[in-house]
Amino acid sequence: MNMQTNPAIPFYRETAGECDLFETAHRHGLPLLLKGPTGCGKTRFVEHMAARLGRPLYTVACHDDLSAADLIGRYLLKGGETVWTDGPLTRAVREGGICYLDEVVEARKDVAVVLHPLTDNRRTLMIDRTGEELSAPEGFMLVASYNPGYQSVLKRMKPSTRQRFLSLSFDFPDEATEIAVVTTESGLDEARVASLVRLAGRIRKLSGMDLEEGISTRLVIYAATLIAGGMGVERALESAVIEPLTDEPETRQALRDLIATVY
Ligand code: ADP
Repeated sequence: MNMQTNPAIPFYRETAGECDLFETAHRHGLPLLLKGPTGCGKTRFVEHMAARLGRPLYTVACHDDLSAADLIGRYLLKGGETVWTDGPLTRAVREGGICYLDEVVEARKDVAVVLHPLTDNRRTLMIDRTGEELSAPEGFMLVASYNPGYQSVLKRMKPSTRQRFLSLSFDFPDEATEIAVVTTESGLDEARVASLVRLAGRIRKLSGMDLEEGISTRLVIYAATLIAGGMGVERALESAVIEPLTDEPETRQALRDLIATVY
C-alpha cells in the first residue's frame, strides 16, 4: 500500500531512508534527533510518521522561557479548585504517543533533567509535583529537532543530552524532490516550479556569504502558491523571497540580479 495516497497521512516525500530509520527507532523505543535548517521538512516528516504509525503526536515549539513544568504539567485553578493538568510530554507518555520538541536547545536548562531518564533505558518520567513516576509504554517516542546553523556557544546542545539520541541530518532536498514537493503543496505547474527551484539552488549558494541561511522549501512553496494564485512572478518573489531573506539593500539587489538570471 502506498501510504502517501492516504489522505489521513500528511504528504511527505522521503529522501534517504529516513522513514525506515524512524520506524525502527520507534519500534525499539529509541529517541531521535533531527538536525537541519528551518523549513526543510523536519516537522512534516514527524507528522507523517506519527500518522503512519497511528500514534498521537504532541508537538512543542520550544522557546527560551519554556520550562520543565510546561512539558510535564501543573496545578491549575478550575472553578475554585486546584486540578492537576498534564502537559504535552506527560500526555504523550501516558498515551504511548510521540512527543516532538522542536528547537529543543532553546528550552530552559531544567528540561534536560526531565529528558535524561526518559531517553535512556529507564524510560521514566518523574512528576515531582504529584510524586508520580510514569514508565513510558511501548509506542512512546521522543523526537527533538535543532538547527545547527543557529547555535550560539551558549545554546549548543550538551554532549550528555546529544548522545542520548539517534541523529539524522536534514538538508534542503535535491532538485527533483523539491520540485515534487513544491508542485504538490502549491498546485503550480511543474515547469514554473522548476524555475523557482533552480532559483532556490542559486540563492542557497549565496548563504554564508551574504545570507545567514539559504532559502527554505517553505518559502519556495509560498512563492509558488502566490504565482499559482495569479500573482506576477516579480511581485511574488519580492514578498516570498527577497523580503523574508534580508533587510540589507545590497543583498536585496544581489537577489534581484540573481532572479534576473533565471527569469
Ligand atoms: P521544518 O520543521 O524543518 O522547519 P517543515 O516540516 O515545516 O520544516 O517544512 C516546511 C514545508 O516544506 C512543509 O510544510 C512542507 O510543505 C514542505 N516540505 C519540505 N520537505 C518536504 C518533503 N520531503 N516532503 C513533503 N513536504 C516537504
